[in-house]
Amino acid sequence: MILGAETNSLSMSSDEAPLSSDLFSPSHELNSRDLHDTAFEAATPEGLDGRIEDHSRAISRSQMRHDWKPETIAAQGGGVIDPATGAIVPPIHVATTFVRDTDNQYRRGYCYGRSDNATVRQAEHVLSELENGSATLLFGSGMAAATSTFLALPRPAHVIAPTVMYWGLRQWLTEDAPKYGIETSFVDAGDAAALSSAIRPGHTRLVWIETPSNPLWTLTDIADAARTAHAAGVLVAVDSTVSTPVLTRPLMLGADLVLHSATKYLNGHSDVVAGAIVFAKTHALFDSAARVRSMLGAILGAMEAALLLRGLRTLHIRVRHQSHSAMIIARHFEGHPAIAQVLYPGLESHHGHDIAARQMKGGFGGMLSMRHRKGEVSAIASAAKMTLWKRATSLGGVESLVEHRSSIEGPGSPCPSDLLRFSVGLEDVGDLIADLESALASA
Ligand code: PLP
Repeated sequence: MILGAETNSLSMSSDEAPLSSDLFSPSHELNSRDLHDTAFEAATPEGLDGRIEDHSRAISRSQMRHDWKPETIAAQGGGVIDPATGAIVPPIHVATTFVRDTDNQYRRGYCYGRSDNATVRQAEHVLSELENGSATLLFGSGMAAATSTFLALPRPAHVIAPTVMYWGLRQWLTEDAPKYGIETSFVDAGDAAALSSAIRPGHTRLVWIETPSNPLWTLTDIADAARTAHAAGVLVAVDSTVSTPVLTRPLMLGADLVLHSATKYLNGHSDVVAGAIVFAKTHALFDSAARVRSMLGAILGAMEAALLLRGLRTLHIRVRHQSHSAMIIARHFEGHPAIAQVLYPGLESHHGHDIAARQMKGGFGGMLSMRHRKGEVSAIASAAKMTLWKRATSLGGVESLVEHRSSIEGPGSPCPSDLLRFSVGLEDVGDLIADLESALASA
């Protein structure tokens, strides 16, 4: 299959079949191979490990060792050496369009930057390896990745999502998704029976999980949820933004898709907005999501992809350090006179600790929340007194952030009004504790 610039395989035509209703069916050749692999065919031994061929793995097969640990792959940015110069940091491909062969074909695999980009592919390749997936699609934000996943489903679509989840996506599912023929049932994600009874056989397309979930850090047992969903023929997607592949690899626990707001830990430096979907297999949903990305122009920019690749090189060391500091901070403030409750999956007192202990390896993440004993006004006042913790939204960067979540989330949020959310950075943990102590004492 050769792509044409104006009529490439992602363009809609009136005689095209609607999106596949069988989301488990293997993807047809069109997108997952022809769109992405052609450029690397010469350097790519066929069927190296028997897994499904895909664009993101193909990019560096000639250079990657299959026994490399995820840390090694991340630190080396996928291990690609630029063949033209020998550069260990690859060039950034900014071209939006590509020359055709003399017979009008595109044999090098790229035709237009809205569908694909070599720098984006390289970051996708690293993420596929880190999550043990078959393919990754990078988007211009986590929300673009998440909403594209839902938009890629066949309609009408019934989906299941947790009551406690990233508020922006909850809002989209509640207010916008119905306009696109997507109906959502919200369930307590920790309640296996509730999940099971929310599934409508033949109608439910996707179970969406976020674990640990914002901002109460509720845990969902991914393997359990996957068993329940798969028994009914339903796919499972996990928003693993907070856990990162350093601590949890949802595809290895049975999930079909992993979502990341790569804006957070994956990039890690608060200077890129990006999102990723990693697919266990290049089934029909992959093709459909690639098509949504291309049609909506939601692909990540090349510059952002290069920054993301750089951020990924230090992912493991950052997340482990942040998890270690968060644990120290959580233990320090549990039982503190100004704090009614510390919410952190690493604490034995946390409602999801048992699942977290099974599911999160090597740490419990860098996010925690605290409920101020004197309520909302004191919570906001104490955040105002902090100097080291920056009062800002987002999470997962190297600098520590504090946020009064219910002000952001507004009415209908399950977030208590006395709660402050903390994103632990890489500063000295003693400095972080001292700043928080003095703010609590003076508010
Ligand atoms: N998922 C989670 C858990 C998030 O915290 C966020 C953003 O805060 C998103 C998804 C959306 O990501 P983005 O802001 O990159 O669109």
